[in-house]
Amino acid sequence: MTADGTLGRVWFVGAGPGDPDLITVKGRGLIERADAILYAGSLVDLAATRYAPAGCRLQDSKGMSLRQIADWLMDAAARYTTVVRLQTGDPCLYGALTEMTRPLDAAAIDWQVVPGVTSAMASAAAAGETLTLPEVTQTVILTRMAGRTPVPATEQLDVLAAHRTTLCIYLSATLLPEVEQALRTAGWPSDAPILVVQKASWPDAERIVRARLGDMVPRCQEAGIGAQAMIIASPALGARHWPRVTPSKLYDPAFGHRFRRADRSETDE
Ligand code: SAH
Repeated sequence: MTADGTLGRVWFVGAGPGDPDLITVKGRGLIERADAILYAGSLVDLAATRYAPAGCRLQDSKGMSLRQIADWLMDAAARYTTVVRLQTGDPCLYGALTEMTRPLDAAAIDWQVVPGVTSAMASAAAAGETLTLPEVTQTVILTRMAGRTPVPATEQLDVLAAHRTTLCIYLSATLLPEVEQALRTAGWPSDAPILVVQKASWPDAERIVRARLGDMVPRCQEAGIGAQAMIIASPALGARHWPRVTPSKLYDPAFGHRFRRADRSETDE
């Protein structure tokens, strides 16, 4: 039992993409006062071990089933005040959050989520790329290829790719030929730019491959990219080298917004 006999709270904390400095201030604060931390494999042990207080119960969840994870969290919540489930990136994306929280709800254990920097954003940042560009694309789709986890028919990659938006493709680095095929089916040309980032933000391990749809498979093979990689396909990739881009209206002196009044002499909007 916790000191006052009540159940503790379980915090699902996003550890960010790898660099321990990319955890949120709130997430780090929770680790620093955690009584018990269940962390997701080698991917987040940097943050867990760096910030955990002495005496904190630390457990790697590698090799545990979802049921065992839920049982561990419930057991810890019965003993301690602050229990942290530390996950890669953001816990709400491909993080089995609901599968873990349903047993907690059933046991009337309080839980909360602290967001994290997801790997798609860390990958764009690593490469210095924008995912949205005026008149080019204003939409980002976060998705994955079907693997052992099926993807609904209406969300197959070729269907989503038909929109020609930015696509951030998780969990698919071992399915590059299938990614290529899906984009081709949707009409993306061979020279469409593709960005693949492995271990974005990881100190000394990050690798960035810039390719074209037609050569991304051999380029990634050469680079030895097999897992922990983000695939970004976007018509906005490489824009910093284009001769001209349409500037964002947000910084246009003629475009007023909540914090700035438009200069009407320069606009008819
Ligand atoms: N919740 C995590 C995603 C977990 S699914 C998040 O928000 O990022 C695991 C997938 O995320 C991997 O297959 C890979 O596609 C991606 N990924 C996780 N960490 C990454 C990193 N540091 N660099 C690139 N991709 C990463």
